Amino acid sequence: MRDAISADKAHCWHPFTPQERWCAGEHIPLMIERAEGVWLYDSNGNKYLDGNSSIWTNIHGHCRPEIVEAIAKQAATLDHSSYLGLGHPLASELAEKLVAFFPEGTLSRVFFSDNGSTAVEAALKMSLQSRLQTGQEMRRQFLAFDNAYHGDTLGAASLGGVNRFFSRFKSLGFETNFLSSLEELSRIDPTVVTAVVIEPLIQGVNEMRPWPEGMLARLREWATANGVHLILDEVMTGFGRTGTMFACQQEKVVPDFLCVAKGITGGTVPLAATLATEEIYSAFLGGAENAFYYGHSYTANPIGCAAALASLEIFEKDQVFARLPEKISYLAKSLAKLESEFSQIKEIRQCGLVAGIEFEKGLGEKITLKARDHGLITRNILDTIVFMPPLAITTAEIDFAIEAISRSCRFCLASGCDSDR
Ligand SMILES: *Cc1c(COP(=O)(O)O)cnc(C)c1O
Repeated sequence: MRDAISADKAHCWHPFTPQERWCAGEHIPLMIERAEGVWLYDSNGNKYLDGNSSIWTNIHGHCRPEIVEAIAKQAATLDHSSYLGLGHPLASELAEKLVAFFPEGTLSRVFFSDNGSTAVEAALKMSLQSRLQTGQEMRRQFLAFDNAYHGDTLGAASLGGVNRFFSRFKSLGFETNFLSSLEELSRIDPTVVTAVVIEPLIQGVNEMRPWPEGMLARLREWATANGVHLILDEVMTGFGRTGTMFACQQEKVVPDFLCVAKGITGGTVPLAATLATEEIYSAFLGGAENAFYYGHSYTANPIGCAAALASLEIFEKDQVFARLPEKISYLAKSLAKLESEFSQIKEIRQCGLVAGIEFEKGLGEKITLKARDHGLITRNILDTIVFMPPLAITTAEIDFAIEAISRSCRFCLASGCDSDR
């Protein structure tokens, strides 16, 4: 493993990572070699509970045999073929299954891409282009929310409100107005707005902050009344995280665009989809000049589609939604207990099986890193520890994870916790 680590330090460049700290001699990075269920195994044979579902992707646990089999079979049958000017049966089947989650005649078209940023990017461009092709050229502006996160490609990032990531590129990208709440809609001229973009129910990167109940339904009403497209970024919330297949279902909201990625393949291989209404789609009909000239080489990759279909089947087979309420309330109780144990916890926020545990300033990273010694891997966002396990987690495994945070916290408070990582 020494070779792998030295090659990493010599040649690899990690996302969201201060590389100088990463490459420093005293830093020994964990190398993850295999995974099973909710567990990750490192090159020294240590196992860790995957407390953030491998950056919010995993759903049914790792290396779930049905998904592994579907991937293997598809790789040996049709690994990839272009989706530009060709189709393939699994993409058709997946599109049919995705739109079936929504009332007939609403979201009816599926545009595939590779990741969350491109799913959002495609929706933004579709919204703008549809305006140009329906005599609404004046609608050029986007609305987004403070502290929002919609991905890192330049277009999606211009809707991002997390200034520590995006302020450098602010003057580039799309024309965007930022809101802190729905009250601010009154100062907006909606006739120049093409779309409003939001992470429904809970903002992820904004330290797991849920929106007030009913807010999404009110935003839908405003958008409809003002002819503004509603783009829902369900890249994090999609596929059961919040307790329903999609977060918007909890407020009976159907958007004009729905963006999904992370969990779509159960967290195994990259795939993303942008769902759009028939009305939007119809703006792209007519001559070739009206087509949506956008796409990626691996669009609708058959292996990704096979994994996504296998993941959807597991939702039924495991009766995931029948079993989630118990896990969600068990997690709430466990978190409440943790909160009562430590006065250093400022706030606990939870939406479904997504939780943020906010500690006093300076503790978040230390406790998160120390938790590895107690068998839990997750990431902090500033001083908020993210706990977003695979939906397949058991209550005993929830106990294990919360105990790891508790032990790590006790250690850090007792020692001052000068983290060596
Ligand atoms: C992760 C995420 C994205 C970006 O997805 P990538 O696959 O990382 O490009 C966009 N929106 C939200 C809400 C996300 O959580």
